[in-house]
Amino acid sequence: MSATMYYEDDADHSLVAARKVAVLGFGSQGHAHALNLKDSGVDVAVGLRPGSFRESTASDAGLRVLTPSDAAAWADLIMVLVPDQYQQGLYAEAIAPNLQEGDALFFAHGFNIHFGYVAPPATVDVAMVAPKGPGHLVRRQYESGSGVPALVAVHQDATGGAKALALSYAHGIGATRAGVIETTFKAETETDLFGEQVILCGGVDELIRAAFETLTDAGYEPEMAYFEVLHELKLIVDLLFEGGLSWMRYSVSDTAEYGDVTRGPRIVTEQTRATMRQILGEIQSGAFAKEWMEEVAAGTPNLLAARRALAEHEVETVGADLRNMMPFLVAKTPEDDQ
Ligand code: NAD
Ligand code: MG
Repeated sequence: MSATMYYEDDADHSLVAARKVAVLGFGSQGHAHALNLKDSGVDVAVGLRPGSFRESTASDAGLRVLTPSDAAAWADLIMVLVPDQYQQGLYAEAIAPNLQEGDALFFAHGFNIHFGYVAPPATVDVAMVAPKGPGHLVRRQYESGSGVPALVAVHQDATGGAKALALSYAHGIGATRAGVIETTFKAETETDLFGEQVILCGGVDELIRAAFETLTDAGYEPEMAYFEVLHELKLIVDLLFEGGLSWMRYSVSDTAEYGDVTRGPRIVTEQTRATMRQILGEIQSGAFAKEWMEEVAAGTPNLLAARRALAEHEVETVGADLRNMMPFLVAKTPEDDQ
């Protein structure tokens, strides 16, 4: 099985250009979609909660800013770009009352549609345009004349034109310049959650702390441990990104490569693989989604407690000191992003 790909010539720009597009949210994805569409000649309004600190950023950029309800009422294509855990509430409050027959409801991640937290009427198109990169890259690539690849999927084709409209939207944000892959809400949602849980976030985060603690418990300096198990990860990830696993193994020393192929399987064991399958099962059954939505409804107590505890870990405190020695790094803390 191989995925279907679409490029510039597969998209009809006039479809999105004929729409009034409401981008709800002006965060990572929201700012990139709204600005790219506007620069592509699309009529865009940004929907923001009154008093949002992003209001002036959006209006200074020349965008029309409305409340989410007003934006949804004005638009005939609504792109939902608020955090996934708030989409159900936003949909009920601002979107559902303003949906009309033939409108299009777009998402950049399938979570709420796939797990049924948002259930639009059968009279509207429901599709996904999900860039495979953070919003800042989506904007920067567009400005430089290029684009970030995206996934498109259609959940509900009320008008018969949902896929063509999704491709047109992907064109408007610059994604067809790079290439667009067709998928389903189910596949996008389940693979996205699996990736972030077992490797990209969960797996890597836990491996870093386990390796750091193993070295510091054995008496090695925490500064040495930090460089070895966290800082240098970027060099390896860059190689993977550029040329895949074999390029990484080719580029490291033979000693490192021998350690890789003989020791790696002892770290990721049959038990680890069995746990991966179990985690995938929890995603597929909806158990993870239910657990997360209940955590959100309770005010995310477990997430906040974990955030506090992990912030005090020595890998973080020693890391902050070491990064100060490296002015070539762009300092990044959650506070820098406010
Ligand atoms: P974000 O956290 O960067 O932005 C959130 C925006 O929503 C902000 O403007 C915020 O003010 C607003 N907002 C927050 N809570 C709100 C509420 N209750 N009501 C109304 N507005 C609210 O979000 P993001 O990372 O851009 O994610 C948006 C969507 O894009 C999600 O579905 C996400 O899965 C998807 N996505 C994100 C990325 C990424 O790299 N960040 C990549 C692909 C897809
Ligand atoms: Mg993802």
